Amino acid sequence: MSEGTNAPNGSRVKCEACNAEAIIVKAENPSLSCCGQALTITFKPGA
Ligand SMILES: [Zn+2]
Repeated sequence: MSEGTNAPNGSRVKCEACNAEAIIVKAENPSLSCCGQALTITFKPGA
């Protein structure tokens, strides 16, 4: 299991541990984590 989150460009992600939010602008390295856990995707573009 990967610990990262796969998120396409334009996605909004949130860390459930510290409530930090980010918007993915560059998906070259789509494996995202914060506080040692995978981020939750709260918005996906193109829906
Ligand atoms: Zn965090």
